[in-house]
Amino acid sequence: MTRVALIAHDDEKPTMIDLVEEYEAVLSQFDLVATGTTGQRIRTETGLDVERKESGPVGGDTQIGAEVVDGEVDGVVFLQDPMTAQPHEPDIGALVRICDVHDVPLATCRSAGEYVIEGLARDAEEN
Ligand code: PGA
Repeated sequence: MTRVALIAHDDEKPTMIDLVEEYEAVLSQFDLVATGTTGQRIRTETGLDVERKESGPVGGDTQIGAEVVDGEVDGVVFLQDPMTAQPHEPDIGALVRICDVHDVPLATCRSAGEYVIEGLARDAEEN
């Protein structure tokens, strides 16, 4: 099953919820994993079930990066806050880099997230 990781910085969490609600029908066919707080909000504010890793600042991004290395993740939607420095910047950089290394599509804004979700849905239909 297609596995997608969802991560949003605090300012971007409302956008993530909006995106997930818009694509709920598609995402309900996928296996979802998220960082802790993002995952909690998706669970309580949408109808979707999602596996929760640790919160981003204490290692959730790194846990998702490890899944990317293991070939378990097909795509990542990582809505980053472009205006605010994050305490876990090195972990974020590592996740972005490891997605590039393994050619896993990673979206960092809503529009790109829509393309990644739609592209993964298309691939799932073809396979
Ligand atoms: P969070 O982590 O979902 O636990 O807030 C996101 C992040 O900042 O990487």
